[in-house]
Amino acid sequence: MTDLDALPLRESLKGQSPYGAPQLDVTVALNTNENTHPVPPIVADAIVQSVARVAGGLNRYPDREFVELRERLADYLGHGLTPEHLWAANGSNEVLQQILQAFGGPGRSVLSFLPSYSMYPLLASGTDTEFIDGGRAADYTLSAEHAAACIRGHRPNLVFLASPNNPTGTALSLDTIRAVYDATEEVAAAGGPAAMVVVDEAYAEFALAGTEPALTLLDGRPRLVVTRTMSKAFALAGVRLGYMAADPAVCDALRLVRLPYHLSAVNQATANAALQHVDALLETVEEIKVQRDRIVDTLRDYGLTPAVSDSNFVFFGGLEDAHAVWQGLLERGVLVRDVGIPHHLRVTAGTEEETTAFLTALAEVLGR
Ligand code: PMP
Repeated sequence: MTDLDALPLRESLKGQSPYGAPQLDVTVALNTNENTHPVPPIVADAIVQSVARVAGGLNRYPDREFVELRERLADYLGHGLTPEHLWAANGSNEVLQQILQAFGGPGRSVLSFLPSYSMYPLLASGTDTEFIDGGRAADYTLSAEHAAACIRGHRPNLVFLASPNNPTGTALSLDTIRAVYDATEEVAAAGGPAAMVVVDEAYAEFALAGTEPALTLLDGRPRLVVTRTMSKAFALAGVRLGYMAADPAVCDALRLVRLPYHLSAVNQATANAALQHVDALLETVEEIKVQRDRIVDTLRDYGLTPAVSDSNFVFFGGLEDAHAVWQGLLERGVLVRDVGIPHHLRVTAGTEEETTAFLTALAEVLGR
């Protein structure tokens, strides 16, 4: 076997590490923000029947335009969206990759605000798009003024905004997203690039009361894109189904870069069946929000500093040695995420029992 360094790898990939959240065999896995509740039986049965119906036809390529799925996704999102505004791929990661393939590439740049979703820089290097980090305030929030100033200063071709942000969990206000879009218009009017603005709403369904989705801003903003996923609230991370709502012209752009038949017939049948049971799928969301709020309250009682969470996870600071705490939790069978930010860890809100296991183990490790 040869060494990776001995291969003629593209310059932009040299020295990079692959995405690598540990997949360890632990009792309580709270490190990748999945929905830890199993798929409800009514949904699992519907998926089995739906896949059984298409199995005999798998000799043929699937519907390249996944029309039924786009109809169902448009119905689910509402906001006057039609199937023409919808696009889907194997996870929202693939949607983001297609967006970079279509609008990024050599000589182009994507601006984001770190710490944010760890895949953004990797997707950028994979498409040879320059990644620019606009940074955040000391408390990890992102103000409209700062975001807009970064756009005026860097004149990127794309902007990636995670709302709620991962790893911090806090959603952006619509004012910030409006300010970002307005700044891209200013730059374009001054002869700079007209940037695509992507709002990654992977965790939108877990929002705190009063948080509004960016879907409400799509009308009249042809370069605004909102990405979503069935991996989180819908408890279907194993399916690999992410999607996007945007001006139909953006879908046309992605048709230029998607692989033919990228969404398998099994994948489409699975997602279509699941979308017939949205209420059952989303049943666990309220319960997860209760556990999330319980984590925030309890961590405060422990003297730690949890961030405001609009998602199914909590980012918390105030740890002397975050990695030692991560290790101590692992020794007690609880896997959380060390996102590499000193004094901080991130934990997914699981079931009531998993949350209790985490809070109990943490109290032990901290000697509380
Ligand atoms: N965006 C964010 C902010 C995420 O945290 C994740 C998953 N960790 C994704 C996108 C990708 O999710 P998927 O590909 O499963 O849709």
